[in-house]
Amino acid sequence: MRQEIDSTLEGFADACNQILVVAKQEKCYNTTKLHHLVYQSVRAATGLKANHVCQAIRRVVGNCSASQQVHTFRPTSIALDIRTFKYVEDEQTVGVTLKSGRVNFKLSIGGYQIALLRGQTLTSATLNQTRQGDYYINFVVEIDTPPTAKTPKIIGVDLGRTDIATSSTGKAWNGKQLQATRDRYSRVRANVQRKRTRSSRRLTRRLQGREQRFQKWLNHNISKELVQDAKRLNATLAFEDLTGIRESLNTKPRSKIERRRTNNWAFYQLRLFVGYKSAIAGVPVVFVPPAYTSKTCSRCHHVHPETDQKKSYRNGKKFKCGHCGFEHDADLNASKNIAALGLSVIQPESPGITCQLQGQMSLFGMFDLG
Ligand SMILES: [Zn+2]
Repeated sequence: MRQEIDSTLEGFADACNQILVVAKQEKCYNTTKLHHLVYQSVRAATGLKANHVCQAIRRVVGNCSASQQVHTFRPTSIALDIRTFKYVEDEQTVGVTLKSGRVNFKLSIGGYQIALLRGQTLTSATLNQTRQGDYYINFVVEIDTPPTAKTPKIIGVDLGRTDIATSSTGKAWNGKQLQATRDRYSRVRANVQRKRTRSSRRLTRRLQGREQRFQKWLNHNISKELVQDAKRLNATLAFEDLTGIRESLNTKPRSKIERRRTNNWAFYQLRLFVGYKSAIAGVPVVFVPPAYTSKTCSRCHHVHPETDQKKSYRNGKKFKCGHCGFEHDADLNASKNIAALGLSVIQPESPGITCQLQGQMSLFGMFDLG
């Protein structure tokens, strides 16, 4: 049985790697277009079922849109859809389509999980292998979420690097410890990778795993606190819309360390966690354009022009307005601007903000209210 699962996991990873090569070559990250390019050849080469190949294409497109640092896929998990798995509630079994055909597994889960799965029509799952060689399955469960209503308040959240996240309520989650850990792991990894032996490759994988678990734990805690604060204050959460920012940042020459910091999963994962936690809690989330959030004074709303030397308003972690002289923590200043922008999105009629922003047409031009 293990052999059958492993061979399917390996086939899936093979398929993903083959698809990744084509996607990078053709610069094609569209599921449908990629399907036409790779489906036949990948299916023939791996011997996977049709739906396995479709899921492999989705996995590659999904991973590449989240991070540019996708190098290889390892045989540790396979994505399943409605045609490749079936949960049978009465028998507590799950049928999974492997390369060799459909196999039934008895689930060993507790009452909490059984209650969550009750009456569910499951359409999406992943079968995973742990580092110890055990197998587990992740089901995607749909739960009813409370409707999100208009809220009177808003919390702006700035995602930075000295601090992972700063909220306009004045809370900051320090990234120093995380960054130090990341740098340390990546230094160790660089040393280990130079040796290129079998055991060093294993060590590399273990380090990545430990680093990732630490980051995940941190992101869970930050997102939980943000959503709890918003729930308690009856507020909407506002984030910068960072999709596409990676490309514009990457056009400037940057150090290797800088690039690694921008192209990482950390922020993507944090927003993902905030997304589902806020949906469960009924907390609305809005995204605002990031263009001027760090250049604008959160008190007088003066936007420091591009031609200004950065020094004129930014000194390390301090923001100093060149117009009114207001001094503030730079991340906190940005989070207040994000909150102000968010408020004008959720309450465009709000007189306070309209008044304050008068004359700052550049701010108004930044978001699409349509
Ligand atoms: Zn000012």
